[in-house]
Amino acid sequence: MSDNEAMQALSDAGAVCGNCGDEPGDRTCPDCERCYQRYAAALRAAGWAPRAEVLADPIETEYGIRLTPDGPEAEVLNYASASRAVVEDRLARHRTGYPDAHLLQRTVRHGKWTDAPQD
Ligand SMILES: [Zn+2]
Repeated sequence: MSDNEAMQALSDAGAVCGNCGDEPGDRTCPDCERCYQRYAAALRAAGWAPRAEVLADPIETEYGIRLTPDGPEAEVLNYASASRAVVEDRLARHRTGYPDAHLLQRTVRHGKWTDAPQD
């Protein structure tokens, strides 16, 4: 049903099969409908998802530690699955060697689990 939103958007934008008299927004031609379905599938395969699905994905906060004030992103210690309390505990220990070490956080959005492609 959310693919239908993509199909309507394609139709509204004037996508047509070229063999019918459909105008932008019309949804009467079976050939156009097949085109929209293929376009929607191709967009999903390319990683696009309907807004409603993206917004429904759970959001988590991950924590990390930067040891030096302007250390590069690559040197951030990443404690992706640890709670803030656990990372704060690590931070306290790191501060003995790196007094400027500080807590970082970032927001992560997780999509649904799907089967990994077979080799
Ligand atoms: Zn058509």
